Amino acid sequence: MSALENYQKQILDSINIGLIVVDAEENILLWNAWLEKHSGISAEKALHHKIEAAFVTAPSAAFMAALRNNLTYGLPAVLSNALHRSPLALFSVDENFQQQLAIHQSITITSLVTEDDSRRCLIQISDSSTSIRREKMLRSHSEILKKDATTDSLTSLYNRRFFDEHYKMSLGQAIRQKHPLSIFMVDIDYFKQYNDYYGHPAGDKILIQVASTLKSQISRSSDMLARYGGEEFVMVLPNMTEENAMQFANKLITAVSQLALPHVKSRIEKRITISIGISTYDPNQHREVSALIDAADTALYKAKQQGRNQACLLPLDTLLAHRLQIHVE
Ligand code: GH3
Ligand code: MG
Ligand code: MG
Repeated sequence: MSALENYQKQILDSINIGLIVVDAEENILLWNAWLEKHSGISAEKALHHKIEAAFVTAPSAAFMAALRNNLTYGLPAVLSNALHRSPLALFSVDENFQQQLAIHQSITITSLVTEDDSRRCLIQISDSSTSIRREKMLRSHSEILKKDATTDSLTSLYNRRFFDEHYKMSLGQAIRQKHPLSIFMVDIDYFKQYNDYYGHPAGDKILIQVASTLKSQISRSSDMLARYGGEEFVMVLPNMTEENAMQFANKLITAVSQLALPHVKSRIEKRITISIGISTYDPNQHREVSALIDAADTALYKAKQQGRNQACLLPLDTLLAHRLQIHVE
């Protein structure tokens, strides 16, 4: 072996991809060290044998078709791991050397020019398992980050940020599709007194329980419940009319009251209660909807004033008229 040939052999054997050369009869002319390692078959055993019979299991039909197309017509081919995971029987061992794992492969098939004009084919195989693993890990990290960014960590409900986005979308949909939409502002009564008396950690537990009770009352995938901030929650229910909204709010109030969570400092009942402000968009009545949240907020304020532990509905028009009046004055 000349010095150059020696170098070439060393390069072929150190390179971190699999290299196979086959002739027009599909006989193997080159089988580098990477292939020996990952197929478990030595070069000695592989050389001068048909490629179809060289591996412990036959190459995939797609691989053989691509190889034959190359040998017959000189067509280059790339078998990406997205479509063909493991066309060749190649393996790596796991970190504990316990298990053989099929290598996910990216394979490139190209023609080699020979002096006597006979066809030769070069097959390059790279291991994409690591990049696939890395990609998977990155994807799951980004999913976790996305979830964190839209979730309230205490109650696991959606947070204010998600609400803002979702609300815009739901309202837009209601306007376009001409269906009603009700919004509920829910606030725990005398919660400051609860914290002062029972302590902040106990207050946190109440928030979690109230959150999960509210959540148990909604069922449609288009319904949305979020923590609006502090001890306030917001619900957006598409397709709910004004008449049904009041009924639904009373259901929420009963559900929380039935938890029978003691609150000796409450001035209404000696248990945890909530107040709710409602406002509904009605496609047959309203053209201006920007005040919908304000209307629900004002309705909540009225529910508190009227004695708490109750719901109050403020028609959107009432608030608009009220605003217009202020404007004129
Ligand atoms: P009202 O019946 O009028 O709603 O009275 P309130 O005491 O519930 O209302 P206020 O706005 O005066 O107090 C809200 C309290 O909610 C104050 C704050 O200590 C408590 N709070 C807000 N966020 C949290 C939280 O994450 N955990 C706990 N434990 N308490 C919170
Ligand atoms: Mg409150
Ligand atoms: Mg409040």
